[in-house]
Amino acid sequence: MKNIKLRNKILISILFIICLFLFKNINQVKAASVPAYRWPIGGDNANETYMDYEYYGIAGQAPVKDGKSGREYKVNNKLWPNEKAYYAKCESHNGMDITGINGHTYKVVSVCNGTVIATSAEYGGNPSTNYPDRNQRRTTAGLNDGGGYGNYIVIQEPTTGRCFLYAHLKGGTFKVSKGNKVTAGQEIATMGSSGDSGHMHLHFEIRKSKEVTINTAWGGGYHRFQYANSTSNLDPKDYIGSSPKVVRQITVTKPSKTKYYEGTENLNLAGAKLSVRYNTGIIENINLPNNNVKVSGFNNKKVGKNTVVVEYAGQKVTFDVEIIAKPQPEIKYVAAKREKVTFQRYFKYRQINIYFDKPVTLGNAEPTVTVRVQNEVKTASYAGISDDGKKLMYKIYNNEFDIFTEGMMYIDCTGTVLDKENKKIEVDCKFKNLTIGKLYKCELKHTFSAIINNGKGDINGDGVVDGSDASRALRIYACRMSNEELDEIDKKNIDKADVNDDGIVDAVDASIILSYYADKSAGVTLEDDKKILKCDINSDNKVDVYDFNLLKLKIQNAVYEDTFDLNEDGKLDNDDIEFFRNVMYDLGSRKRN
Ligand SMILES: [Zn+2]
Repeated sequence: MKNIKLRNKILISILFIICLFLFKNINQVKAASVPAYRWPIGGDNANETYMDYEYYGIAGQAPVKDGKSGREYKVNNKLWPNEKAYYAKCESHNGMDITGINGHTYKVVSVCNGTVIATSAEYGGNPSTNYPDRNQRRTTAGLNDGGGYGNYIVIQEPTTGRCFLYAHLKGGTFKVSKGNKVTAGQEIATMGSSGDSGHMHLHFEIRKSKEVTINTAWGGGYHRFQYANSTSNLDPKDYIGSSPKVVRQITVTKPSKTKYYEGTENLNLAGAKLSVRYNTGIIENINLPNNNVKVSGFNNKKVGKNTVVVEYAGQKVTFDVEIIAKPQPEIKYVAAKREKVTFQRYFKYRQINIYFDKPVTLGNAEPTVTVRVQNEVKTASYAGISDDGKKLMYKIYNNEFDIFTEGMMYIDCTGTVLDKENKKIEVDCKFKNLTIGKLYKCELKHTFSAIINNGKGDINGDGVVDGSDASRALRIYACRMSNEELDEIDKKNIDKADVNDDGIVDAVDASIILSYYADKSAGVTLEDDKKILKCDINSDNKVDVYDFNLLKLKIQNAVYEDTFDLNEDGKLDNDDIEFFRNVMYDLGSRKRN
């Protein structure tokens, strides 16, 4: 039993030691991420306060900030109108300065539990006791002022031995005195500007021990503190929490582009920057545009000054841009002269060229070119600008007009182009030029039907209808006129020679054979002839507007007849119109002028 008890005691002891180690480790981890002490300002206004001057406690070394030696307050001169940048060469600073808004009152609170071990109130010789807000630089008289600290309180934390020095306190506001115990967050005095201070602020120091804080040899002189330096002091920033982060002020840097043309340009924020100053003294720069920053007030239609409003975290700042009235390009040159426009004719289209005596650009849109023939008005399509910029080209396709449209083309070019200086050039040309011809040559050589359908024409029986058959036809005609005998071949094939079926063979037959021969050489096929035959609805051996109108009428009336079913699909519809058009376009052609 005794042994078991002993073993249990040992086990419990080991466990306890392990727990201690674990606990210690956890504490260390905590110390690294969580501030050991609270912010030394309490009350409702605490979130207005911020650090305006950092710790520069490097022994024997002058602080250097922004390339300048010595003390430089970062206070905002708008909030502190009397404060100027203050430099004290070769002087280190071993605490942190905390300030707020000029004129506001701030409660200084203890950052930890502890005991008040010294205050300036114990020393009647401290002039600040009698001057609650006495500001005096070291360059002025009255150095016997708590060593420059003015009204101060020193509180020691029993667990660490660290001493916390609160200085420049407002005289007559002390809530504690030497020997008092205080708790973290307890108000001890009001922020002031006593001692060596240029503006209301709390000078806050953390010293490692009482020995490096209080000078026990002090005997009533002006200085009761040990010298502060990097071996005696800790940088408060590493130990205390910060005031709640609140945007104190925003300022804006204008964008690079501040002039805009009326109506055309959008706000360009390149180069614009929002400088956000927090109560903690930290300044953050935000490049614009930024999703969290609202920018409004830009109106490119409002000529003159535009005030652009930039909003962030409930605060607004503005900058001005200028909207310049867009110069109305003056008309310097009117391209309305007849000789400035020419035409070129191609197989399928006409090209309309507008010439300028200097290079132009189109601006927002190319000019419009319309072409009217009879009652049909078509818009020519823009076809580009020449490499030298002096010629605008337009095309109008022959097929854009109805197949039976013919007549003079009236061309109307209107609009504007711009020259190199952005000056407007008016294009205003009206003129008539080429005619557009009707389709012709789409007619059926009905006299070929005997050749095509009945195999006539091949008199010599060599399988082709050609020039030698024509000469045979002529010879037959000559023999008949002179009562000469025909040769055997002619005698046998005399029926084939009457290609127009009029009962006699004569010069007309010879010319039809020659004509047929010429057509075959030109590529006209039997199929083509059949198509033309179908389209010749009124059977006058020509395909023309009369046939077309008959066809359209028949389709409108919707009465089916084989004759009109050109594509032979059993219906009368637009496909038949298409068939007709295709025959005309394929087998007919525009008359040239
Ligand atoms: Zn200070």
